[in-house]
Amino acid sequence: MNKKHVFNAGPCLLPQAVLDNAVSAIKDFKGTGVSVLSISHRTKEWEETMNECRALWKELLAIPDGYEVVFLGGGASMEFLYVAMNFLEKKAAYLDTGVWAHKALKEAQGLGDAYALACSSDKNYSYIPKGYEIPSDLDYFHITTNNTIYGTEIKTDIDCPVPLIADMSSDILSRPVDVSKYAMIYGGAQKNAGPAGVAFAIIKKDALGKVSRYLPTMLDYRVHIDKESMFNTPPVFSIFVMNETLKWVKSMGGVKALNEINVKKAKTLYDEIDRNTMFKGTAAVEDRSIMNVCFVMSEGKEHLQDEFMQLAKDNGIIGIKGHRSVGGFRASVYNACTQEDVDALVDCMREFENKHKSA
Ligand SMILES: *Cc1c(COP(=O)(O)O)cnc(C)c1O
Repeated sequence: MNKKHVFNAGPCLLPQAVLDNAVSAIKDFKGTGVSVLSISHRTKEWEETMNECRALWKELLAIPDGYEVVFLGGGASMEFLYVAMNFLEKKAAYLDTGVWAHKALKEAQGLGDAYALACSSDKNYSYIPKGYEIPSDLDYFHITTNNTIYGTEIKTDIDCPVPLIADMSSDILSRPVDVSKYAMIYGGAQKNAGPAGVAFAIIKKDALGKVSRYLPTMLDYRVHIDKESMFNTPPVFSIFVMNETLKWVKSMGGVKALNEINVKKAKTLYDEIDRNTMFKGTAAVEDRSIMNVCFVMSEGKEHLQDEFMQLAKDNGIIGIKGHRSVGGFRASVYNACTQEDVDALVDCMREFENKHKSA
């Protein structure tokens, strides 16, 4: 028994083929005799990889003309600032659905008038607010489509009367997206699109250039678009692995095919959580994420949490400890996580229930 089932929230599991190709490129990048870690980003071979990566993003998400894809250092957290810098002139509203959404809002508030249009902190962010009305005088409305910590998700592309900006760090590439509904989509790669060290932004070009503030060169999306993400040294290795991840997504049949698998994996887990007397889910049923499945011990069983954690560990299950603000457990079932991994966790939950039935 040594197979590990990795449910880490991020960085997370990557497909084996991606890891194998990364190892081989570390030794020799595209037959150049040079490691991808040493290759100059100004070579033809590297530019081909950048171009392939951009093209794959466009293909996999059917990104319409008028949009560009850029790759940046600094993670999604840096993009919280980029968003406000590049889009906030007079007023922006945010949907406050969790820690990440709140951090994004805070960055904008440091630069101008930004507020939470609706917020679900009253119930520890266990649901997505509904019934709010988006004013038409905003520079943009910002949403976090998947709330990684709480396991809630906005699973449809909402209608929005103002430019819509979405942090899709943890559900990008998990489903088809109607990119034309967004002025921008961004995120860190390390949940579904690759390793840590690179963030992506899919930007509608004509949504830029509307702010009057001074934009530092590195914080101006237009610079990164113009320079094809090579204004300065890009995170070469992270982009290489992201490109391999996108190739894998394509080989799996694309985001629609992966979505079907993801829905099934999530359903397997939620069905077990709802059936199993030892556990209960924490997210509102209608808002349950297909990427991060959060659950806790059911009432009266809280004292058994460590025991279940140990049983999971003994079964090769890694990374299911819930975020400290929610407690309990969180299984992150991103694209690279398989039905087999999910089944292993479900088996473990059943074994735990049986053990305590007979005791
Ligand atoms: C992980 C995560 C972030 C933070 O990403 P960094 O790249 O670490 O800055 C932001 N938003 C969401 C939704 C996330 O899941």
